[in-house]
Amino acid sequence: MFDGPDRGGPAGRDAYYHLGSGRRRRGRGGSRHGAGTSAKGQVVGSSGERMIIVMKSDAATEQIAAVAEHLEGLGATARVSTGSVRTVIGVVGDLDGVRSVAWDVLPGVERVMSVTGPLRFVSREAQHDGTVIEVGGLRIGGGTLTVIAGPCAVEDRDQLLEAGKAVKAAGAHILRGDAYKPRTSPYAFQGLGKEGLELLAEAREVLGMPFVAEVIDPRDVGLVSSYADIVRIGSRNMANFPLLQEVGRQQKPVQLKRGFTSTIDEWLNAAEYIYNEGNHQIILVERGIRTFETAARNTLDITAVPIAQSLSHLPVFVDPSHASGKRSLVPPLTRAAVAVGADGIMVDVHPHPESALVDGSQALEPAEFSELMEDVRRLAEAVGRELA
Ligand code: PEP
Ligand code: MN
Repeated sequence: MFDGPDRGGPAGRDAYYHLGSGRRRRGRGGSRHGAGTSAKGQVVGSSGERMIIVMKSDAATEQIAAVAEHLEGLGATARVSTGSVRTVIGVVGDLDGVRSVAWDVLPGVERVMSVTGPLRFVSREAQHDGTVIEVGGLRIGGGTLTVIAGPCAVEDRDQLLEAGKAVKAAGAHILRGDAYKPRTSPYAFQGLGKEGLELLAEAREVLGMPFVAEVIDPRDVGLVSSYADIVRIGSRNMANFPLLQEVGRQQKPVQLKRGFTSTIDEWLNAAEYIYNEGNHQIILVERGIRTFETAARNTLDITAVPIAQSLSHLPVFVDPSHASGKRSLVPPLTRAAVAVGADGIMVDVHPHPESALVDGSQALEPAEFSELMEDVRRLAEAVGRELA
């Protein structure tokens, strides 16, 4: 049973969810962090050039405000984006006056950059070094290989704890398990909701393992992020812009799956939506795309991994389970993901795949996962990745 329409007929095509309005707290294109609003997010100078001022990681709030004020004084607009490590200021409007200032001598400024591409914040041009995200003492990105595993959906306490214990024993770092599932049919199991989040929190205590869970509705972002260590935007919601903005306004790291009909550029722009709201902790996940091929649930776009890594500083993971839909294909695709240099993998594991409520046909049994982890360890070493 599939949990989404990505192998459906015509009705399944472009079946993205557009739920709610996102209850915008401020006008479109404005910045929560304050230094003025832009004209509908216009970021280009008259020449098409874009500028970013990168603040030092220890820059004081007053120094950030001083730079923003200086920009405003020159007739430009400052779009301040505050991350957990540093603040970056996108410069909007007329850049003529802005260009003549030696910004890097101002206190708290690290450097000024001119960005030529459409992505202001998530591109390698904007930040050369790879983003490293810390979750529960783990480092995601920066040359590590992170393993996320667990059931597609939380079904009950026994199922979750059994899966959790097995993946932990096999060496996984983070537990997956969803309390909210986007399903093709409105009559299919939709997840346990808040009760599922409570079970996940209990599993975290018992196992000493952080967890990631999907959020499908902007109205639930606060709830999911109050429980989860990482919140996930699923493939069907990659282009749900109000949802992207809402997760961008909370503090937990965000996993952003690639839409199964989306280009890499659209995927990176979706990450830009999150980043632009102030959340810089984003993990990209390649999970297969829909092609003319029907032999597998999706076609794993392995090429997208090094491409996304070269275009963006964000860590890139692979989900071989949703990419293939078939248990027998998961080990070879996992090995391919590690070999190609992914920053992490996310694998469905279920203690009893035959009776799973969601996605049983793609779930590994605990013993298979444990065996696969042996290969993952060997391959990680071969490609110079540090397995935490
Ligand atoms: C999932 O990870 O359970 C999921 C629904 O994946 P995707 O959004 O990639 O289909
Ligand atoms: Mn699933």
